[in-house]
Amino acid sequence: MQAPHGLGFAIDQRETDLCIIRERPVEEAYLRDLQQQALLWKRNRGLKKNQTVTFDVAWHNILGFATQERAETLVDLLNDALVDSGIRFELVSFDYVWRSEWFQLDLWTAEEMDMKETLRVGTSTTLNVYSCVPSYQGTRVAGSSAFPDDYGDDPVRDGIVLDVAFSPVGGEGGATFIHEVGHWLGLRHTFGPSCATDNDLVDDTETHLKPDLSNPPPAGTCPTSQFCPLGRTGPVENFMNYGFAGCQTLFTAGQIGRTEDQVAMYRPAPLTAAEMNGPEVLHAGRPAVWSVDVETGYGPYTYSWHVAQGFGITPIGSNAREITDTVRCTLRDCERYEELVTIACTITDSEGQQITVEHQVLVWN
Ligand SMILES: [Zn+2]
Repeated sequence: MQAPHGLGFAIDQRETDLCIIRERPVEEAYLRDLQQQALLWKRNRGLKKNQTVTFDVAWHNILGFATQERAETLVDLLNDALVDSGIRFELVSFDYVWRSEWFQLDLWTAEEMDMKETLRVGTSTTLNVYSCVPSYQGTRVAGSSAFPDDYGDDPVRDGIVLDVAFSPVGGEGGATFIHEVGHWLGLRHTFGPSCATDNDLVDDTETHLKPDLSNPPPAGTCPTSQFCPLGRTGPVENFMNYGFAGCQTLFTAGQIGRTEDQVAMYRPAPLTAAEMNGPEVLHAGRPAVWSVDVETGYGPYTYSWHVAQGFGITPIGSNAREITDTVRCTLRDCERYEELVTIACTITDSEGQQITVEHQVLVWN
């Protein structure tokens, strides 16, 4: 199977601790364009603050290679690594898959797509994890990931393939798993291809040529990377480098910002709203106010209120420039006696997502 758009892949010489991602021919220009698109997208929707979003994790455990306990621990470690962001993950499913042909999986083949077409669940906000023993052109790799901007053209490929042997939950702290999810959130490697470009287009990460994985460091120490200029110390602690057990511990503030921009544009949170607030008993002739708050979604929103005939509903006020939004309505003309009335509000966001929130009121006359 050919790579999409005829592009190549990042492959390290080392047999372990490498991952397979799709590369673009002029990565820096491509990333700059992505970043501008994301900022424009947010501005057009009036998003001033980053969304808080919890992604579902659907884990597909090929031939029992992982355990649910390890999966849960890895997700906990991932949430620790993202503690400064509004992004969280929650393991919602863990299924055993008894298909031996997907265990030693050749990446970027029809076999991989067959597996994903069969197993994949959810939407762009569902992280599908396939734990098996992946390889690329005969070389065993630690994992592979799709980028958020791949989703539109290639939703089936979305998710990560992971060799959990490279994500122990002890000393390494799940760094390979966290690294792959970093790609899934839109982050590039901190290294390569040259010193002349800002390789990941994140301002606060060091530019360096390659991770140096040739000499395992003495216990309790971390190795240096190959830096730009050579001789300087590099970001050995960064999750988007490659590293040794226990050395990779952080994402920078710039990387967190990048993930939030990429998520906002390519993995938008589903529209959700709180319950409707307002009185549950109403005496005729007295004004009352109901409100509903949008929790996540993309403004501007439109609100459509529905109530039994004979009641006058007047929306009052709107604040569509924030993610949290409130619209209220008043109920005036009550003509009925002791009747249970359902008030409903249908909210539509700028992405066309729609939800309806209902509230029951006992009306006395
Ligand atoms: Zn990687």
